[in-house]
Amino acid sequence: MKILNEANINFLSRSSNESYARMATAGFFAQLDPTVDEISDIKTAVSEAVTNCIVHAYRNTLGKVYLTVRILEDRTAYIKIRDRGCGIDDIKQAMEPMFTTAKQEERAGLGFAVMQAFMDKVTVRSAPEKGTTVVMMKKLQARGDD
Ligand code: ATP
Ligand code: MG
Repeated sequence: MKILNEANINFLSRSSNESYARMATAGFFAQLDPTVDEISDIKTAVSEAVTNCIVHAYRNTLGKVYLTVRILEDRTAYIKIRDRGCGIDDIKQAMEPMFTTAKQEERAGLGFAVMQAFMDKVTVRSAPEKGTTVVMMKKLQARGDD
């Protein structure tokens, strides 16, 4: 799909940057005049993906998180969140609802399920010790003026 607009940011995997990532994403997609529900879904999905980079990918360390946001044709919001952290051994298993490798930290294992529920499409690529890339897309509703 054609890229109509794009922005990139990167930030350290500090938990204080999770809200920055959410706000930056919401700020970018504001140009599409999304509904309150749509922007809330997008912020929640970004929040889950970024939290995973912070708590899993860069566990006990700090690294960079790379966020790319794009507007594709047909009012499609595209979000890519990439880390260079520990990677995921078994992506299929990781995406199963309630699967977590951090049970003792009271994680529910629902992050990927939330991303899938709130976005139209979620794709995960990962390589152990190389990092993980999560791509999410959501087609926004048509607005009266377009
Ligand atoms: P919750 O999101 O409910 O707090 P969780 O983070 O464990 O719990 P998911 O977000 O669904 O649940 O992720 C499932 C598992 O996939 C994690 O427990 C972790 O093992 C792995 N994982 C997810 N994202 C990454 C990542 N960026 N790097 C390395 N491992 C990851
Ligand atoms: Mg999670």
